[in-house]
Amino acid sequence: MRNGDRKTFGCGALLHLLIASLFFIPFSAFASPAQKPQKQGVYHTVTKGVTLYRISLAYKVPIAKLIEANGLSSPSALKVGRSLFIPGAKKVLHVEPFVPLSSLERKDLERSLETEDKPVAGAPSIERPAEKPPWFGKELDIIWPIQGKVNSPFGRRGKRFHAGIDIASPSYQEVKTAMDGEILLARGSQKGYGNVVVIGHDLGFSTIYGHMNVIIAKEGEAVRQGQAIGGVGSTGKSTGPHLHFELRHDGRPLDPRPLLPMTIEELLKKASQRKK
Ligand SMILES: [Zn+2]
Repeated sequence: MRNGDRKTFGCGALLHLLIASLFFIPFSAFASPAQKPQKQGVYHTVTKGVTLYRISLAYKVPIAKLIEANGLSSPSALKVGRSLFIPGAKKVLHVEPFVPLSSLERKDLERSLETEDKPVAGAPSIERPAEKPPWFGKELDIIWPIQGKVNSPFGRRGKRFHAGIDIASPSYQEVKTAMDGEILLARGSQKGYGNVVVIGHDLGFSTIYGHMNVIIAKEGEAVRQGQAIGGVGSTGKSTGPHLHFELRHDGRPLDPRPLLPMTIEELLKKASQRKK
């Protein structure tokens, strides 16, 4: 129908059109997907060293959303030259590539993994809370890496300072990434933290997963929250299978417990207290 024809329409023609359109509506709903509103977003071409985590940080889109929007099999399944759809983005942004640790940074980090019981001097004081923490007011999306009882909390342990929390668990239970991030260190060792993975996150945070029996993550890889990186074990200085989980901010250990969501046991306890 051309525009000019519209004026010559009579009532009969309108009736025909109405009947015809009633007949066609159910079919047209299936037949014209092109008429759906276009999803907002941009296409980003992957360049060397750019990981899904780096893209997620630059565009502020969670890794899981990027995986879903692009039908990726995993966060590491990203090839140079691939065009990625970034949902919700208005323009193409510059994305910094992943930078591996320098040999000095690596040495420092490895030294800090020799023993999880740090000397009390220089350790953050739990009795005297720090001024306003640097992430204050920012939402920290963090989950438990495994489900289990905290057998040894963060803080003083005898004359030393336990830099993380020990979560009890049977061997080989999947250890999950607490937040979206990138693998800074993944190394096998029979000393200190044992087989350990260190993940770098946004806002200067890092998380550490110690004593694992297997590691299924590679340095430089992007990982999404909840992704398995290994299995619970008892490697390094350990008396039985458990996960030593540590949260650091700018390299300083912090108590992760207040930032983690409530456990089912805690929720039930709270509910029973309310009833009394
Ligand atoms: Zn520990």
